Amino acid sequence: MKLSNALYFDHQANTPIDERVFRKMLPFFTEKAGNPHSTDHSIGWQSLQSVEAATTEIAKIIGADADEIVFTSGATESNNLALLGLGRRECEGKRRRILTSAIEHKSILAVARVLEEHLGYQVDVLPVDNGGRVSVAALTDALDEDVLIVSIMAVNNEIGTIQDIPSLASRAREAGALFHCDAAQAPVAMDLKGFADTVDLLSLSAHKMYGPHGIGILYVRRDLQRRIEPLIVGGGQQNGLRSGTLPVSLCVGMAAATEIMSGAEAEKARCWLRERRDRFVELLRQLPWETSLNGALGEDRHPGNANICFRGFSAHDILQTLQPHLAASSGSACTTGIPEPSHVLRAIGLMGSEAEASVRFSLGFHTTDSDIDEAINLISETLNRLGKTSFAPAKASQYASDIVEDAAPSS
Ligand code: PMP
Repeated sequence: MKLSNALYFDHQANTPIDERVFRKMLPFFTEKAGNPHSTDHSIGWQSLQSVEAATTEIAKIIGADADEIVFTSGATESNNLALLGLGRRECEGKRRRILTSAIEHKSILAVARVLEEHLGYQVDVLPVDNGGRVSVAALTDALDEDVLIVSIMAVNNEIGTIQDIPSLASRAREAGALFHCDAAQAPVAMDLKGFADTVDLLSLSAHKMYGPHGIGILYVRRDLQRRIEPLIVGGGQQNGLRSGTLPVSLCVGMAAATEIMSGAEAEKARCWLRERRDRFVELLRQLPWETSLNGALGEDRHPGNANICFRGFSAHDILQTLQPHLAASSGSACTTGIPEPSHVLRAIGLMGSEAEASVRFSLGFHTTDSDIDEAINLISETLNRLGKTSFAPAKASQYASDIVEDAAPSS
C-alpha cells in the first residue's frame, strides 16, 4: 500500500478510507445534501433517515440501541465527553476517585489531569506489565467505594496491547464504579460484538477503521445519559448531549466502515494482517542489527502493530532518513515543543534511550508481501547509511532523556 508513492506503514495514525465507504458517502455531498434537522421538507427527512440508519448500524455492531450513540468529532472528543462530562456533573457526589492506566492516550490522561486540577478528583494511574497489560488484581486492589469511573483502553495505539476489557470492566462494575473504554484502535484488531453489555461508555473513531476523518461516537448507556454534562451546547441535538448539525456524509461513512469491520470478512482480514505483520517482524529480526519487539506477543496484540526498538539508533533519524519513501512513526509526543520519549514505552519499562530508538510500524489490510520486502530493504539501507556498527550496544550517555527521564515517573 503506497500513499503519494511512499510505503504506508502508519495505519494506526490514520487508515485510508475504504473505497466502498467513500462511494456510500459521495451522494451526501451533492444530491442528498439536506440538513437532517430540517423538519419542514422531504430532503431534510431523507437526511434524518440516513443518519438514523447509520446510528442503528453502529449501535448494532457493539450491541447497543440507537439512542445510546452520540456522534462526536472523533475519539478525543468522545473521551472528553465521557470523563469530563461525567466528572463535571458528579463533582458534588461522594465518589471522588478516577482510575486509569499508564498507557492511555493523551486525550484520557490530559482530561484526567483537568479533573484533578480543576475539580479536585483524585486520579490514580494503574501500572502495566512489560507487555502493557493492566492486571485485574492491580485494578481490584485500587478499587474502593470512592471510585467513580475506571477508564482503560481496549487496544493501545503504540504497542498494540489488547486488554482484557470484559474482566477489568466486570471488576470495576462489581465495585460500583462505571467503566469507560477508549476503543479507538479496537475495530481493526477485534470484533466489538456485545461490547456495549460489558462497558458503560465506549469511544470510537472512524478514521482508525477505514472511515472518514472528523467523526467518532461515544456510546453512553441509556440510564447514564443524564449524568453526563454536554461539552457542546446549542440546538439540543442528540438528546442534548452534543449540539450541532450532524454531518450526514460522515455518519453514513462511519456506519459503512463499522459494518466492514464486523463479520467474517473482517476476521479473515485480521488473520491475514497478523501473518503479514509477523513476517515483517521476522525479516527485521534477520537484519544484522539488534532489534527487539516492544510490547506483548501473540494474540494480545493488534494484528498490524510492530513497535520495534533499533538499539543504538535514534528513531527520529531513522524516520527522517526513510523520507520520502516510507511512512511510520516514533512514539514520542511533541506536546510542548520539546520532544519527550513515549510515556507508553516508559511505562512498560524501557529506558529513555530505548524509547527514543523505537519506531511504530503499523501495517494495514492492504499491505502486501512486496510492500514488506521493499520496506525491509529501505530500512536496511537506512541503518547502513546511519552507519552504526551491527549489534552496537546503546550508549546511555548519548541520550539526555536517560538522565532526565529515568528519574521522573511516567505519566
Ligand atoms: N484514543 C486512541 C487510542 C487513539 O489512538 C487516538 C488517535 N490517535 C485517539 C484516542 C484520538 O482519536 P481522534 O483522532 O479520533 O481524536
